[in-house]
Amino acid sequence: MKTLAELVFDNRFARLGDTFSTPVQPQPLEAPRLVVASEAAMRLLDLDLASADDPLFTELCSGHKLWNDAEPRAMVYSGHQFGMYNPQLGDGRGLLLGEALNAAGEHWDLHLKGAGSTPYSRMGDGRAVLRSSIREFLASEHLHALGIPTSRALSVTDSHSVVWRERQERGAMLMRLAPSHVRFGNFEFFYYTRQHEALRELLDHVIEAHYPDCLDHPEPYGSFFRAVLERTAEMVGYWQAYGFCHGVMNTDNMSILGITFDFGPYAFLDDFDPQFICNHSDDTGRYSFDNQVPIAHWNLSALGQALTPFVAKETLLDTLKLFLPRYRAQWLALMRRRLGLIQAEEGDKQLVQDLLKLMQGSAVDFTLFFRELGDSPAPAAVKRLREDLLDLAGFDQWSERYLQRVAAEGLAPEQRREGMHAANPRYVLRNYLAQQAIEAAERGDYGPVRELHSVLARPYDDQPGMERYAERPPEWGKHLEISCSS
Ligand code: AMP
Ligand code: MG
Ligand code: MG
Repeated sequence: MKTLAELVFDNRFARLGDTFSTPVQPQPLEAPRLVVASEAAMRLLDLDLASADDPLFTELCSGHKLWNDAEPRAMVYSGHQFGMYNPQLGDGRGLLLGEALNAAGEHWDLHLKGAGSTPYSRMGDGRAVLRSSIREFLASEHLHALGIPTSRALSVTDSHSVVWRERQERGAMLMRLAPSHVRFGNFEFFYYTRQHEALRELLDHVIEAHYPDCLDHPEPYGSFFRAVLERTAEMVGYWQAYGFCHGVMNTDNMSILGITFDFGPYAFLDDFDPQFICNHSDDTGRYSFDNQVPIAHWNLSALGQALTPFVAKETLLDTLKLFLPRYRAQWLALMRRRLGLIQAEEGDKQLVQDLLKLMQGSAVDFTLFFRELGDSPAPAAVKRLREDLLDLAGFDQWSERYLQRVAAEGLAPEQRREGMHAANPRYVLRNYLAQQAIEAAERGDYGPVRELHSVLARPYDDQPGMERYAERPPEWGKHLEISCSS
């Protein structure tokens, strides 16, 4: 284990120079207080949780101090927001502090979100509020614990700084970790400003640092696009299988690493509603749950457009055709796991789709259904779940097919239960749980955020005493309006 002061930096992105980012100093928060730190994220930096008790930790996580070798910079990017090209975005309120190099040889970007205004702040104040910082923290660490590719979060810091949104709120900072903060939008910026040499430099950097296997390929840039596409398809496969709705899939929020990135008004589904829109500002439902698949494909085509100076159009178009099959295979493999099926069979896709159809409009809870389906023995589990369905005859027919399939696999009941519980979380980050913890934090009580984080860090484990986090949401909790404001 290291101490805070011992972190080693290797700032590869900063070395690319001022074409790609601008040096900016963080503007500290007033009277900072640590809300929560993630032990799992600390470990990525070879730190233990005790390091968070060091006052230096809060100073580092609130812009008061910097590591000696940090080089804070605001990255420049653009992007398609709700389908419209915005030529000038960039880090308007977050700074890449540097890349920490851990003992395993991994680089972790330290990005301080809410660190004050930058040349890319446009009309914004450069700040983040406590509410949205807590939401991003909880989601990052929970998605990771679920096994879903995501950026990470080290800490949230609260303060006495006043920030105005629809009401007066408190300024906060989130320390975000990711192997890279490069987005689709970074490539779009250099493409649309016709800076093709810079575009090539960015490509070479990302490939060398994050996709080194592409260098062995006869067409490294084409194979890079394919690798990004595959990772993105896999990520969306996870989202659709686990009911995660991102909410703002603009191309500036799409990580070049295919990890879940930039958490705004996200939600996990409570009921299974494919048309669910979690972003209150998304009037047309562009980013509804079901649209996440075609939108990811659309976003990849926007990235492909930015690569046209270096990759043949035909190659890009052929690669884009691989998206849906890759997505479908990933989704089906995950759904099969969620149903406790080991072997792949012809009718599996139909079996899953028929179940989802039965869930629509019923009283089924999307998370708890799969968890409880894993209980033993299977026929009894199915029988207990039956009462939540609307189409009872339809569900009986489905159950018969499912139970036959389970029987044919011949797993011992205990083995089936173990496998299913390892694939089906008992605890999931429901918006109302986040909301209750946020309201306590806004009153100055950080206990509920810490407890919720610790429960959600082990979502597949039964945790005695924590049952209230695994309950069905109250009716009001299903309809919280979460907007883009953060
Ligand atoms: P987001 O909606 O979080 O993806 O942000 C879109 C763009 O707006 C990015 O360039 C952000 O840096 C910028 N932005 C969001 N909120 C603020 C803020 N409060 N101050 C300055 N820039 C912001
Ligand atoms: Mg963003
Ligand atoms: Mg954001």
